[in-house]
Amino acid sequence: MSAVFALVDVNNFYVSCERVFQPRLKRSPMVVLSNNDGCAVARSNEVKALGVKMGATWFKMREIAQEHRIVAFSSNYTLYGDMSNRVVEVLRSFSPDIEVYSIDESFLRVESVCPWQASYRAFGQAIRAKVLQWLDLPVCVGFGSSKTLAKFANHLAKKNPQFEGVCDLGAFSNNELEDWMRKVDVAEVWGVGRKLNEKLAQLGIRSVADLAQADPKRIRSLFGVVLERTVLELNGVSCLSLEDIAPPKKQIISSRSFGQAVVSLPVLTEAVSFHVANASQKLRAQHATTQGIYVFLQTNRFKPEEPQYNEGKLITLPNPSDDTRVITQFAINVLERLYRPGFKYKKTGVMLLDLQPRAHDQMNLFGAVVNSTNSPQSLQLMRCLDSINGRYGRGTLKLATMGVSKAWEMRSENRSPRYTTHWDELPIVD
Ligand SMILES: [Mg+2]
Repeated sequence: MSAVFALVDVNNFYVSCERVFQPRLKRSPMVVLSNNDGCAVARSNEVKALGVKMGATWFKMREIAQEHRIVAFSSNYTLYGDMSNRVVEVLRSFSPDIEVYSIDESFLRVESVCPWQASYRAFGQAIRAKVLQWLDLPVCVGFGSSKTLAKFANHLAKKNPQFEGVCDLGAFSNNELEDWMRKVDVAEVWGVGRKLNEKLAQLGIRSVADLAQADPKRIRSLFGVVLERTVLELNGVSCLSLEDIAPPKKQIISSRSFGQAVVSLPVLTEAVSFHVANASQKLRAQHATTQGIYVFLQTNRFKPEEPQYNEGKLITLPNPSDDTRVITQFAINVLERLYRPGFKYKKTGVMLLDLQPRAHDQMNLFGAVVNSTNSPQSLQLMRCLDSINGRYGRGTLKLATMGVSKAWEMRSENRSPRYTTHWDELPIVD
C-alpha cells in the first residue's frame, strides 16, 4: 500500500483559540497582537479581506480598526500551547503515526487507518467534525502521497470553498491535478518561500506545475538536494522528512524525556538550562528575538500509580531578547515557581514564543538602561558563543547553570528514538 499523508492545519489558529471562549466574536474581524501589543501575529478571515498584512503594526492600523471595529487581543501563548496539545490528542485518535510540525499543523500517515479506503474525503470530514465538536476549532485537511502534496492539498482546501475544507489529490485525474498546480504560485510549495521564488522565476518556474515538471537533476545542481526532493515529492515520491524543511517560525521548542526519573531542582535546572541554550541558539540562527518563554514539567503519565504533576508557565520578558543568559535567568525563575518537591519528573522543556525578527526590536521606556540585554556586547558575546560551539561542537562553551553531570540525560544515547511506538519519543520538530 503506498503512503498517504494528511496535513491537518487549524485555520487562523490564535484567532480561532480566542473565539472558542468568546463565541460572540465568531464573525467579528479580529487580530491577535504580539506580546508588547506591537503587531498582528494572527488575523481572522474578515481582517485578511480588509487587506491587513501579517505583522502589520497596531498603531498604524488604528483608523481601519476603528472603522471596521476590529477586535484586538494580546497574545495568550499559554492558551494556544494548551489548545495545540489538545488538537494533537484528538488527531492521535485517528492515526498513531503523527508528526507535529508546528503549533497548528500536524502530518498523519493514514493509508492503513482510513476506514473508508476509497474515500479520504469522508475521512477528512470526520477529522474536521471531531476537532470542531471536541475543541470548537476549524481545521482544513489535505491528502496526498507525499508530505509536499498533502501540504499543497491543504492549501487548496483552505483557499477554495468548494472543497469544504477537505482536499484529496488522490481523487484527481492527472489533468485535474495539473490544472490546479498551474493555478497556484510556486512560492506556496512547502519549503520554497519568497527567496527561492525569485530565482525560480528567472528560470521560468512560476507555478507549482512548472516546478513539478522541472528536471530534478537540474534543480539539484542549481538549488541543492532539498529542492530536488521537493520536485520528486510533487510527483508523488515521498522522500522529505520534517527536518528537511523548517516550520514557519511561530515558536521554537526544545524538550526531552529524562533517562531516569528526576526529583531534584538542581538537576531540573541543568536540564532547563540545556534546553534554553539549544532553543536560543536556533533563535539567533534565524535572526529573531523572543519575548515569551514557556517552561513545562511533566511526571510520567504512563505510571498512574505515581502522583502526577503536569504544569507549565509562561513568562513575558520586559524586552525581546536573544541572549542565552537573559533567557536562562527567566526560565529558571519560572522553573523555581513551577517546581513541587515529591514528584518523580519524566520530562521538561522550553518553548520560545512571540518571536520577532531582530530588526523589530522595541525598547521599553527605560530601554537604554534596562535593555542592556540587547547591547552590542551581548550581541558580540552570543556571536562568539555560537561560533565556538559551531566549530568545536555543541556545548563546548556554556553557562555554568547547565552543569557538567548531565544526570538527566537519556542513558542509551546512541539508540535512535522509538518514533512510532513510544509516546515520549515521537519526533519533535522545533
Ligand atoms: Mg494554520
